[in-house]
Amino acid sequence: MTAQKLRGDVAVLVPAAGAGVRLGPGGPKALRELAGEPLLVHAVRRLCAAACVGQVVIAAPADSVGAVRALLAAVAPVDVVAGGASRQLSVAAALAAADPAFGVVLVHDAARALAPPALIERVAAAVRAGSPAVIPVLPVVDTIKQVDDAGRVLGTVDRAVLRAVQTPQGFRREVLVAAHAAAIDEHTDDAGLAEKLGVPVHTVPGDEAALKITRPHDLILAELFLRSAERETI
Ligand code: C5P
Repeated sequence: MTAQKLRGDVAVLVPAAGAGVRLGPGGPKALRELAGEPLLVHAVRRLCAAACVGQVVIAAPADSVGAVRALLAAVAPVDVVAGGASRQLSVAAALAAADPAFGVVLVHDAARALAPPALIERVAAAVRAGSPAVIPVLPVVDTIKQVDDAGRVLGTVDRAVLRAVQTPQGFRREVLVAAHAAAIDEHTDDAGLAEKLGVPVHTVPGDEAALKITRPHDLILAELFLRSAERETI
């Protein structure tokens, strides 16, 4: 199989250098298998099925750069760089390797391996339409409590104003570059860095299939999503 050329106008950075400790023993998370294929292969295949994508830069575990390059050679023409000690450093490493000609840059966690092409297009379209930073979100279904160190409840947060945030997150390239250049502490997402700069961040609807595969039961859930998506395409 030969990898198809990418023709879109958007670069996607994929932090994939996490150890995946919460998934249990078994190597880097992005290389764990779901339905017989590594999570990273699932993620890259969906990214490359989105017509907007023109470049994919993967931040792989430093000791697996060659293996990841070999793994993806037949899947898509991606660039692979060594990730860093934190997610933020891995994104920064991928950003440094991205072609500056792409004015729209998405950041997408390999752990959200089943994010569908339609979600990727939706985020890119919102940036193209003029939003400097865009995040996909879902409503929060649980009641959320704030607690102190002893586990005592301090209060109940109104969940109507809360959203659970997914990836891909989309940015005007210059916004993402400025956000990372100004970073002084660790953030769990890139929009958090942009917020620190006072950049307005807009939301688009997320997708349940873009769940973050973190704990062992997430793999079971992801497999169910995969099977129901296959049924829909038959
Ligand atoms: O650690 P967390 O679950 O938040 O990881 C989110 C994403 O960031 C995953 O795709 C993981 O592979 C990536 N990551 C990374 N480099 C790190 C830590 C996490 O690329 N040092």
